[in-house]
Amino acid sequence: MSHNLRSGLYDTSPLYQNAVLDLDMAGNKMGLDMNVLERLKMPKKAMCVSIPVRMDDGSVKTFEGYRVQHSTTLGPGKGGIRFHPEVNLSEVSALAMLMTMKCSLVGLPLGGAKGGVRVDPAQLSRAEHQSLTRRFTMEIISMIGPEQDVPAPDIGTDSQHMAWMMDTYSMAKGYAVPGVVTGKPVEIGGSLGRPESTGRGVVYVIEHAIELLNKRGEQKFILKNCTAAVNGFGKVGAVAALELAMRGCKVVAVSDFFGGLYDKNGLDVPAVIAYMNTNRTLKGYPNAQQITNEELFALPVDILIPAAIDGVITRENMKNIKAKIISEGANGPITSEAQTYLENNGCFIIPDILANAGGVIVSYFEWVQGLQQFFWNEREVNEKLAEIMLGAFNRVAGNAEKYKCGMKTAALISSVERLSKAMLLRGLFP
Ligand code: NAD
Repeated sequence: MSHNLRSGLYDTSPLYQNAVLDLDMAGNKMGLDMNVLERLKMPKKAMCVSIPVRMDDGSVKTFEGYRVQHSTTLGPGKGGIRFHPEVNLSEVSALAMLMTMKCSLVGLPLGGAKGGVRVDPAQLSRAEHQSLTRRFTMEIISMIGPEQDVPAPDIGTDSQHMAWMMDTYSMAKGYAVPGVVTGKPVEIGGSLGRPESTGRGVVYVIEHAIELLNKRGEQKFILKNCTAAVNGFGKVGAVAALELAMRGCKVVAVSDFFGGLYDKNGLDVPAVIAYMNTNRTLKGYPNAQQITNEELFALPVDILIPAAIDGVITRENMKNIKAKIISEGANGPITSEAQTYLENNGCFIIPDILANAGGVIVSYFEWVQGLQQFFWNEREVNEKLAEIMLGAFNRVAGNAEKYKCGMKTAALISSVERLSKAMLLRGLFP
């Protein structure tokens, strides 16, 4: 009698299904040991918790929360905490898998994890955010710790949430444990350059891509003559837009959950950021044309940065995309099918696990600085970040050439090369 050993618990979301498809593609291309490939399709450990919160009106609401560790072979789990209405176990598991691949790709001594709460963060007051964060931390406390699993901010959370997590964990231990999270405010052990690190990295790899494409003679790009559009204007998208504008690139469109802004002559990015900081949305910004997110994707720009959420470029809109370079600021913004279509049509896609690795790299710096109690200046942080991003970009571009494949498959091959060696060296317990 044959038994199906999978319950289907993890693979209900398109993000998980895409992640497994991508992994299969890379595994087959590199001739990966099937035992290793099968193990990597499942998380190591997952915890589901209920989080009751006393709301400002006196009622109690109960939220669903998750923490998933995909792999701790290379070191403690590492991955953000997401507050978003669509969070579920499958999505968090897929994001944990991407974190494993990302940390391995850029050579960090860290594994992959992710957490999240199914909640609309825009509907919560500051006090409710704090109660939710503290109770969630308490519920998952047996899974996290500086040597075990280290959370960070993601969609809907920021340095303040990390400060509350650090404080809650420290209260339970009886002494300050700054190393339990990264992305903390600098005053309590955060790293300079951490808030900007992901957006900066997204732009560093665009510069490397331009250099590579120019060297290949396929196109003649000069960043300051390029146009760009950025979908998602949060911690990643806003910084990426600003970094591009600072390099003279014309950022013609940006968007958030409510829609986008367009100016064919280039937006005044610092002014848009100032408006966003005051109004918490781009909606109503006076000095640009209002467009939809779908219109933004279809713009005839050189560079496109999807920096909002997963699954925004799919079979439905892939044929509208005209960008020559896409740098994936978000995790999993392009489905496997759209990826293949776009690459076959000459689009150069810098995959998420490479493009947005800047955040976890500087998180790693924060963790190291915290353990040593020796803090670096921002120049040192940025130089070390740039060096690691360049090394990873070159490894991926090298594998793309060696295996005659796109950058996504090449990035996964590069991470699995390192990870599978470590798995085989450590062996299987017992
Ligand atoms: P954030 O909450 O700061 O910003 C998210 C932005 O996306 C907001 O502008 C929001 O309005 C917009 N948005 C949300 N849903 C949208 C939709 N359906 N359509 C259009 N816009 C939408 O989050 P963030 O930290 O900037 O993260 C963005 C992405 O980058 C996520 O996929 C996250 O996992 C990934 N990422 C973040 C980091 C980091 O350091 N923050 C690191 C690596 C990857």
